[in-house]
Amino acid sequence: MSDRAQQTYAAVCQQAHQIKLLSTMEQVLGWDERTQLPLDGAEYRAEQMTYLAGQIHDLRTDTRFGEWLDELSSSELAADPRSDTGTTVRQLKREYDRQSCLPKRLVEELSRTAVLGQHVWQEAREEKDYQRLAPLLEKTIGLKKEQAQALGFAEHPYDPLLDEFEPGATVQQTQAILEGLRDELVPFVRSILDTGHQPDTSFLRRHYPRAAQEKLGVEVARKFGFDFQRGRLDETAHPFCTTLGPHDCRITTRYLEDFFPSAFFSIQHEAGHGLYEQGLRTECFDLPPGEAVSMGIHESQSRMWENFVGRGAAFWDWCFPQAVEAFPEALSDVSCDAFFAAVNQARPSPIRVEADEATYNLHILLRFELEVALLAGEIPVADLRDAWNAKTEEYIGLTPENDSQGILQDIHWSAGLFGYFPTYSLGNLYAAQFFHTAEEAIGPLDEQFRHGEFQPLLTWLQKHIHQRGQCDTPAELVQDVTGQPLDHSYLMQHLKNKLEPLYGLR
Ligand code: ZN
Repeated sequence: MSDRAQQTYAAVCQQAHQIKLLSTMEQVLGWDERTQLPLDGAEYRAEQMTYLAGQIHDLRTDTRFGEWLDELSSSELAADPRSDTGTTVRQLKREYDRQSCLPKRLVEELSRTAVLGQHVWQEAREEKDYQRLAPLLEKTIGLKKEQAQALGFAEHPYDPLLDEFEPGATVQQTQAILEGLRDELVPFVRSILDTGHQPDTSFLRRHYPRAAQEKLGVEVARKFGFDFQRGRLDETAHPFCTTLGPHDCRITTRYLEDFFPSAFFSIQHEAGHGLYEQGLRTECFDLPPGEAVSMGIHESQSRMWENFVGRGAAFWDWCFPQAVEAFPEALSDVSCDAFFAAVNQARPSPIRVEADEATYNLHILLRFELEVALLAGEIPVADLRDAWNAKTEEYIGLTPENDSQGILQDIHWSAGLFGYFPTYSLGNLYAAQFFHTAEEAIGPLDEQFRHGEFQPLLTWLQKHIHQRGQCDTPAELVQDVTGQPLDHSYLMQHLKNKLEPLYGLR
């Protein structure tokens, strides 16, 4: 190995360290903004965060940094692209190339339109009037098309946008997998509805004191393996997980005293994200081998703990007595079976964030299809609401009552986030396939969960997924871990195994 390459590599790592210091500072400010910040502090906070974002952008697109990465790309250090050094060079160069091919004017315009867009969205949603948002959305989509052109693509202008959140994914592959899922899921949901049966869920809306919710939520997260010496749980309006340092992972939730599932499952969901973050290799915290590989894989971890573990029958065999002890007034006359059926109710809702495990993916599908069509210029922005309502009717069997229950329900598009939605469904699909593989390797998992043993699953996830960081693409990771490409049949099987008995379909 040449000394020169070693020195250049050390310089690259040093710069990556500085980038990480600044970006974790930005995360601290962001966490504080979403959990603590008084209203009038928002303006100065925005200035602080914009300043830091600028500093980070300058370091990432520093031409000297780019030259070092070019030099290293042809060195021995990058010869094996999946080694730690090869991954570092490949991924930092990918980020450098992505950031530096965007003209500064476009970056600023995108950021300004996103901030403005979220304000306009809020007003439009309050007035339930899509036409209020349409002109701004038109502008946003124009900018996203420009961004796609600048980033470059071989087949579809949506590809480079999707690639930002799910490296290597394309419209073509994603369409094939999600359409495969759709073709089985739509009739399956219909067969559930046709039974005319729905479980009693009324007891989920009894009084659940906040303090007891927090205590139980923390106990379960700790039992899953979330390390509260290296993280903490706080309150927020829209739950999220963020990492502020190698030993500082923050999860958040929102407590509703008259609806049990809200905080309980969001704590498990965010703890699932947190377990991934805490499972990454801390010795390469600054570098891509120590960072999460994609949004979809991240979501697979949160969904696995929330849905595959936390909504499972075996989990409730273990947890239900504790829940009764925590909420004696609400649950003393409820059976474990009734409770399990209630938290797994499958029923179409117009609102994505309220959707159950089965119908959730249909919400994502319709958004993905509309995004792809918008980027390809196949749907004019003026016709978007009609297209939205038609697809909601087709996939979910409902017509939104008004725009705020329909096309205005999500903030993503007004904030310029195109290519993000599909990662939610990819996460569900990855989760099902990983869980199936874990079951074959270390199962039966249900026997373990029934006794409150979650460590074997976590250890398996750490070894096969967390500790690989960005050394593989998501597609390589799935292929390596499960022995085959992503396949929708694992998720379908999981949903059928759980829901068919609950709805008397087997
Ligand atoms: Zn999530």
